[in-house]
Parts: sequence; structure tokens; C-alpha cells
Amino acid sequence: MMASAPHGGPRAPRIDGERLWRRHLELARHGALSAGGVDRPAFSAIDAQARRQLVDWGRAIGLVPSMDAIGNLFLRRTGRRPELPAVATGSHLDTQPTGGKFDGAYGVLAGLEALASLHEAGLQTERDLLLVVWANEEGSHFAPTTMGSAVFSGQLPLAEALAAQAPDGGRLEDALPAFLAAHPEVPRQDTAPPLHAFLEAHIEQGPVLEAAGLPLGIVTGIQGLRWLEVDVRGQEAHAGTTPGSVRRDALRQAVQMARALFAHFDALGDSVRFTLGRWRVEPGSPNTVPGRVRFTIDLRHPREAALADGEEAIRQLCETHAGPCTVAVERLSGSAPIVFPEGIRDLLDQCADLWAFPRMALVSGATHDAKLLHGVTTTGMLFVPCEKGISHNQLENATPEHLAAGTQVLAEALLRLADA
Ligand SMILES: [Zn+2]
Repeated sequence: MMASAPHGGPRAPRIDGERLWRRHLELARHGALSAGGVDRPAFSAIDAQARRQLVDWGRAIGLVPSMDAIGNLFLRRTGRRPELPAVATGSHLDTQPTGGKFDGAYGVLAGLEALASLHEAGLQTERDLLLVVWANEEGSHFAPTTMGSAVFSGQLPLAEALAAQAPDGGRLEDALPAFLAAHPEVPRQDTAPPLHAFLEAHIEQGPVLEAAGLPLGIVTGIQGLRWLEVDVRGQEAHAGTTPGSVRRDALRQAVQMARALFAHFDALGDSVRFTLGRWRVEPGSPNTVPGRVRFTIDLRHPREAALADGEEAIRQLCETHAGPCTVAVERLSGSAPIVFPEGIRDLLDQCADLWAFPRMALVSGATHDAKLLHGVTTTGMLFVPCEKGISHNQLENATPEHLAAGTQVLAEALLRLADA
């Protein structure tokens, strides 16, 4: 293992949970919405304001900022051996259009608080520590999601990211220069800093930890995803004159497919996530038998083999229920599940033990920047509960105690990684 096994009690100083909470509220003023949420679009002036606030907080504890070509922001705390790859932590500051105060912001502020506690204790680490704000994690204005970490990890070419177009037609390559210029005292860093490890703290965005009554989750991995589209073709016909026996009703067959699919995936239990999210019915007229129906499938599971079996079952069930129509199933996109290394999960678990926080292991249902970093360096994730599992919603909430617990364990793990 890359880090020394924890022994002899905690080494990290105690973090300041009250300051951590206060900073969540202060940061949430940048893009505040009336119902308590936040609208902070990636690459906007508001996004830049929030980052300037963070840079100010970072400078006050000696962190040195820099930014790369896609707008990933790095705040560095120099160690005794700056020639070694750094230990990084962080998340994102952009939000959904009606997002909350904690999604992304927590991982950034937890990292800041961990570094602040080291600063105040006068502790210098062997390796540099790096607090990272990944650009455009949400991808809700300029797709795709996790854009900054995808460019950083080499999984998305910069030119392709710059060509991204917003729904209003605006192009990222036109919007980005103003955003970068809004950080006037942050120098450019065009080579990716080498990393020894990356840890991301995040609210769970699901109900598991709250239901279990636990303050902490050690994330085992991130589930994989397949997007499919089912295209059912029949024949348009007059709704009044065409008897049912001779119709080729695309919607009737699509509904039968949907019922069979729900029955199939319901029987597999909670580890599979199956969603029919978008339906298009043509011609969409009340008195015409639908001639064509297309619907999308979002299928998620922590194991690749289960995704493959699921896709096979979808194809077979759709064929079986096509009746007098024809059906085609197309894969639109997908991403493989990942499993974080056992060593880093053990380290997080042992650090939780040192601070006597009960916890459980769980799979992440949502994608995070850590998924992209997994391809680059040894990566791990910590979850804290959020109220009722609600996220991507203005009502998103978490308790100061849970946020502090995750931050304390993060600080302990960062310290041990940075001294290894
Ligand atoms: Zn997030």
C-alpha cells in the first residue's frame, strides 16, 4: 500500500466544522435562488465569482493558485518534496440550474478545510497537496458532464471540449476566454500536474446512508451506464375506420415492451437502475394510430457483465413483443463501471476508524470527477448523507455534523497519503 497503515491514533488536526458550514452558506450566495438553492452555470460570471472567493480563502492559508486551458483550478500547498507527485482532492463548483448548496461545493470546501487545519497546526507534508476545482462537472449548459476532469485525464480532447455548443447556440470557445480572464491573478498552468492520489468527498445524492443512520460512506466504485433507444415502426391509420385486428400500432407494441422490460428489471432487485425517460410518438395526433414510437432506456449497474446481460434482455424482450411491428434497438452511449482500488478504500476505512465514525461501503449511483481521475491516479471517494437523498434540487440539505465527519476523515487520509 502507498500509505502507511494508520496506527497510534489520529495524526490530522481537528477540522473546524463550524467554519466549514459557514463557508457553504457564504459560497451559496454566488448564484443564490429564492428557494434556498443555487444556479451557478459552469463558465459563467457567477462561477468565476465563486472561484475568486475560494482563491481568496486559499491565499489566506498560503495556497498558490493556477488554472489550465479548460478552466480547472488548482490551489497548491507546498510540501517538503515538491518534486514528488502531489496528493489532490476536490470536486466542482458549478451547479444544475436549480441545484443545491452541497453538490460539488462540499468536496471543494472539505478539501479547503482539511488544508486549513494543516496550516493552522503548522504541519508540513512530504508531498504537495493540491485542492482542485474541476470545471463544468454538471455539463448542463455545455455538454458533456465532467468536462474538466475528462480533459485533464486525456479522455476528452481539448479541441472537442471547446467545440461544445450550449442550447442557445453559444460556443464554449467563445465563452471561455472571458471566464479565464475573470481570474486575473491566477497564472496559467498548461501541463497537467502529476498526481500521487486523488480523493473526492461528496454528498451521497441518494437515500442509503440516511436510511442506515450512518455519517459516512466509503465508495467502492461508480456504476456503469448504457443509454439505448428503442425504435418501433408500425403503420399510421385512421383511428375510427381501422379495426384493431389489422392495425400495426407502434404505441401498443411499445407499451407491451415497456411492461415486459419493467417486469424483467424489477425482478432483478435494487442493484439495477432502469429508466424509460423520453418517449416520442408519431404523428402524435389523437385520431391517428401511431406509426412510430421511439423511447430511451437508461440502464445502470455496478458490474459490466450485468449491463451486457441487461442489454441482451432488452433486445430479446423488444423482439418478442414487436407483434406486427418492427423494432430496432440502438446503443446511444455508455460508460463502464469502475471499482476504486482496495488500498485506498482500506485507508479511508482505517481513517474513519481512527476518528470513531461508523460507516458503510456503498456504490455511487451518480457519475463524479473521481471516475475520470480513476484512469490517471489512485483514486477514492467518501460520501456523507444528504437529507432524504434529495439532490439536483434547491431543497438539497446536509447536516454540519455529517459534513464535518467526512472532512475529518478526508484530512486524515490526505495527511497520510502526502507523507507516504
Ligand atoms: Zn457533484
